[in-house]
Amino acid sequence: MKKIVVAGAGGFIAGHLVKELIKKGHSVRAVDIKPLNEWYQVSNEADNLVLDLRLRENCYNAVNGYNEIFNLAADMGGMGFIENNKAACMISVLINTHLLLAARDCGIDRFFYASSACVYNGEKQTDTNSPGLKEADAYPALAEDGYGWEKLFSERMCRHFREDFGITTRVARFHNVYGPHGTFDGGREKAPAAICRKIIDASITGEKDIIIWGDGHQTRSFMYIDDCIKGIQDIMYSDILEPLNLGSSEMVSINQLVDIVEDIAGFKLKRKYDLDAPKGVRGRNSENTLIKQYLKWEPSIPLKDGMKKTYDWIKEEILDDSKSKKQISKYNK
Ligand code: NAD
Repeated sequence: MKKIVVAGAGGFIAGHLVKELIKKGHSVRAVDIKPLNEWYQVSNEADNLVLDLRLRENCYNAVNGYNEIFNLAADMGGMGFIENNKAACMISVLINTHLLLAARDCGIDRFFYASSACVYNGEKQTDTNSPGLKEADAYPALAEDGYGWEKLFSERMCRHFREDFGITTRVARFHNVYGPHGTFDGGREKAPAAICRKIIDASITGEKDIIIWGDGHQTRSFMYIDDCIKGIQDIMYSDILEPLNLGSSEMVSINQLVDIVEDIAGFKLKRKYDLDAPKGVRGRNSENTLIKQYLKWEPSIPLKDGMKKTYDWIKEEILDDSKSKKQISKYNK
């Protein structure tokens, strides 16, 4: 049994990670800046702390006496959030910096950092037929402005803390993670959850149209949360020194993603394309040669299976009386 700190535990991915680590018998301290009643999942078996991890002193208090840190805390969201909040995204650099200093000074054995496909050079993502981004494609650096640069810098910092201070740091570059117990409204949601929400709202209100950001031909891959949680742990406890892609290589266009959700819902909507909405890069996929080589595994849960579980969860949340009134009126657009 290890003593593990999970940062960002009130969020989507870390909430699932805390549950899994507890299931494996570890002693977990879960930390997030949000009040406990706003956490997506609360594990009563964990030591749950509400702390702003941008502050150095809070990081030291959070990790003292523990063996390992998973840092998944960041001020982030989908394209709509990161394109309009670049400075806020970059301030997350304080979280990783202070957690690394605390790791060095408090004798932490292992440190995981959640990076992103947004570190990749934008010039390598201009084609919808993306062959997949190899880990080396992060350089020469031309990351997503704001959010992506912060991730690239923090990755680099993990590397130098390993080289200079001997901390075992591990880094994964997540490609679009989706699943239950995540954001599906409010402006920070990503495409899979946003599309589910719009189609569920339409099924309730009788709306006939769906608004899609961009022309719908932009491509992405999406990784189901269970694959992500397995990958995080396998990378954390591996010997892999360099940042590794953690993503599905099942690439689809946004139109194909809408097709999948419409099939699940059992009806179709008229598509309207908002060409002025934030769209991100034109084509992105995860190239998985290295993860297959190192771990003999890659994320493989089919998109349509994961989307079905995600859709069902979001539908249940929306149909919940207290939530439905708020969400349908606010976000049916
Ligand atoms: P999330 O927003 O659901 O979770 C992040 C959590 O960090 C939130 O609960 C937030 O309150 C917390 N946080 C923010 N600032 C904090 C602070 N100062 N102190 C303490 N906690 C703070 O996001 P997620 O989707 O679970 O993402 C987790 C990590 O994975 C993030 O680092 C994110 O950048 C990275 N990532 C996610 C995706 C994805 O598709 N979800 C893709 C690439 C990278």
